[in-house]
Amino acid sequence: MNASAHWIEPFPHGIYVRPADAWIDPSRPVPRALITHGHADHARGGHEAVWATPETLDIINLRYGRYAGKNAVGYGEAVDLNGVRLSFHPAGHVLGSAQIRLEYQGETVVVTGDFKRRPDPSCAPFELVPCDIFITEATFGLPVFRHPPTPEEIAKLLAMLAAHPQGCVLVGAYALGKAQRVIAELRDAGFDDPIYLHGALEKMCALYADHGVDLGELRPVAGTDKSELMGRVILAPPSALADRWSRRLPDPVTAMASGWMRVRARARQRGVELPLIISDHADWDELTQTIRDVAPREVWVTHGREEALLRWCELHQIKARALALVGREDEDDA
Ligand SMILES: [Zn+2]
Ligand SMILES: [Zn+2]
Repeated sequence: MNASAHWIEPFPHGIYVRPADAWIDPSRPVPRALITHGHADHARGGHEAVWATPETLDIINLRYGRYAGKNAVGYGEAVDLNGVRLSFHPAGHVLGSAQIRLEYQGETVVVTGDFKRRPDPSCAPFELVPCDIFITEATFGLPVFRHPPTPEEIAKLLAMLAAHPQGCVLVGAYALGKAQRVIAELRDAGFDDPIYLHGALEKMCALYADHGVDLGELRPVAGTDKSELMGRVILAPPSALADRWSRRLPDPVTAMASGWMRVRARARQRGVELPLIISDHADWDELTQTIRDVAPREVWVTHGREEALLRWCELHQIKARALALVGREDEDDA
């Protein structure tokens, strides 16, 4: 087979796997959905049947309530859907995140969903899965996006905390993935103090702990004296950074953990004093290295800045195309 796989088709609202009559990460309700991970731009409510990892199904249940038909597929297990062999492989993005591998009539396609390559103590590491067609995200698909080593960013956070013993450091972090990762990275750096949470983060942190991710001692901000919050790390969703809620905190230094913190204007817009470039997406080097490592016949590029990656593929004589999927603007989960 030399043309693009005819059995898998991109539409604006998702990728359709024709023989299985199933959609990957569809943005509207469908009879059969294959879900890469629990972020809202990939996992919507309302599908009749869902195939995902057990962790992702737990996350979906926590966010949307139960699906009627759900099918847990663990990493590395294979399932047959009308002759399409389906399996899930770690994407290293958030707990339960998976690349979906599809095999039909001797041709293999891997859909990364969102992914990253660098170590993350809060989820399983990315697995390299060889394939004919590699469908990759490109959230940070520009050479300007090079994420610094995470320990450097964590060290900045801890230095700021040490410099403000009468205040606190308030870190804006997306509720699924980023918050738990920042906590786990702090623990890896030897930080054992209790970490305080905005109420909107508590359930997801508990879900991670239930799945064996050690987040250490977590305490709610609600009901805690202002004096006890001095010298503490406090986590809140990004939307809470500037609202009334933060007034209860003692002289907070506002930080935010996101790949977008590389862009100074974004940090300024959000009133962020301490930008922490901690991303759950591959940066430019990780994207291009992954394409080299996977060595597919063809690359399809989704969400984000496709052009630079298409050009890079062209220069490296890899056939590539952009998919115009809608609703894939990862603003806060980046
Ligand atoms: Zn995501
Ligand atoms: Zn995404």
